[in-house]
Amino acid sequence: MTFDLTVLSQRLGANQVLTEAADMAKYLADPLGADVVAPLAVVRPDSTKAVADTVKWCTGHGIGIVVQGGLTGLVSGAVPVSSSPCLILSMERMRAVRDLDPVNQSITVEAGAVLADVKSVAEQAGLYLPLSHGGEGSSQIGGNLSTNAGGINALRYGTARDQVLGLEVVLPDGSIWNGLRKLRKNTAGYDLKHLFIGAEGTLGIITAAVLKLRPLPTQRATAWIALETPEAALSLLQILQTQLGETLSAFELLSHTAIDLALGMPGTRLPLDQPAPWYALIETETAAAAFALEPALLESLGAALETGLISDAVLAQSQAQRLAFWALREAIAAAFIEDKTSIKTDTAVPVSEIAASIHSTTGSLTAYLPGVRCAPFGHVGDGNIHFNVLRPVTMTSAEFAKHVPGIRSILELEALKFGGTISAEHGIGTLKSKALAGTQDPIEREIMQRVRAAFDTGSCLNRSATGL
Ligand SMILES: Cc1cc2nc3c(=O)[nH]c(=O)nc-3n(C[C@H](O)[C@H](O)[C@H](O)COP(=O)(O)OP(=O)(O)OC[C@H]3O[C@@H](n4cnc5c(N)ncnc54)[C@H](O)[C@@H]3O)c2cc1C
Repeated sequence: MTFDLTVLSQRLGANQVLTEAADMAKYLADPLGADVVAPLAVVRPDSTKAVADTVKWCTGHGIGIVVQGGLTGLVSGAVPVSSSPCLILSMERMRAVRDLDPVNQSITVEAGAVLADVKSVAEQAGLYLPLSHGGEGSSQIGGNLSTNAGGINALRYGTARDQVLGLEVVLPDGSIWNGLRKLRKNTAGYDLKHLFIGAEGTLGIITAAVLKLRPLPTQRATAWIALETPEAALSLLQILQTQLGETLSAFELLSHTAIDLALGMPGTRLPLDQPAPWYALIETETAAAAFALEPALLESLGAALETGLISDAVLAQSQAQRLAFWALREAIAAAFIEDKTSIKTDTAVPVSEIAASIHSTTGSLTAYLPGVRCAPFGHVGDGNIHFNVLRPVTMTSAEFAKHVPGIRSILELEALKFGGTISAEHGIGTLKSKALAGTQDPIEREIMQRVRAAFDTGSCLNRSATGL
């Protein structure tokens, strides 16, 4: 079937409707290497009105839309994988900062703005957007909100959802909902913005958002800690939360297997002299000048060393050292993305179940495939431990590939067994739609399907995503 894209080209501008394979290639580069089906075109609107016009045109022609942000999600949700005709709608040209209000402590940005750029604009005004994760250099605000991104600071500041005051959304019929309120509180009816956050573009296209800002921290202390067990990490978390209060902003648990893989990435080095079975990377921060952060952290860690709860610790002595700690942490994700045969997960369990679930999942996986290498790492504060898995050293990639569905199923069932979720970072996308269908409570699924149907009767937006 052929479609005449002339009207759309005239509306968006000649260079903003890409149809040549070479021009479209970068938009089809799924990080997981999914089998992407070429769209009719990649469109790059530069305004909310242009997004709305594109949606109307697609609805009128029965053409689907796959919304694309920074293409960092790891569930193949932002690329077309089905053969039904569609366009990729890239948000990359909608990146303006519309407003920065220092008194309200809020910033209004277009959805295609890259997270790191928005943080930097806020910082120049002495303010802080605490959303922080390894994909922030390319992921966009719209993508972050559509997947309800968490990251290293979710422990203290919550997820993307908790940063939002208002949204502007283009609905599947092309109408525009202007919910760009800067209000901290609003009880006038349903709080609609929350429907679109975490909806992976299935209910509407987020075109702009009002985000909360906070005072920029003036002190930070960061420590790399050696531990013997995940249980010790949970005890340390409790102690630090009590002793340091809300200044504790990040608490990452890292298995040595994960760190070992990361140490293969260029420019990385272990901050401690001796390896340990487990590490914690923690950070505290405050804007309050009256509180002496580093001495307080040193005292807590000194006591933990004395009681044997931790076996070693080093505090970052400079910003460069702090960044090196975080670079090693982020190198884990990069190393896993590079190792195409590895299994990457983003399951989560309640914080109190982290240790038990790590032990149970390790036991189940090694019983299923002896020699399999378990490399859990992630955010203790929100229970989102990535239980990533590497093939046994003696096994070929081809042989390991046969075990991937079995391993994925164990990982998901183990997370659910501990009251957890099969997805706590990247969403469902197309990769996990079957897993969602197979594990979801029927009532919960029906509610979600009704919500989707209420918005998108023709199912034009992100048709393949979530499977709902
Ligand atoms: C190295 C690395 C580390 C990460 N660490 C973390 C972490 O610690 N915690 C965490 O929670 N996540 C983490 N992530 C995941 C990250 O949060 C998501 O990849 C990111 O939020 C997606 O943003 P994006 O702009 O790249 O969206 P894309 O990947 O392009 O899209 C993701 C989904 O959102 C939809 N979408 C995109 N933009 C819009 C829009 N404007 N309106 C409606 N729908 C839209 C897409 O259709 C797709 O379904 C990490 C990712 C990477 C690569």
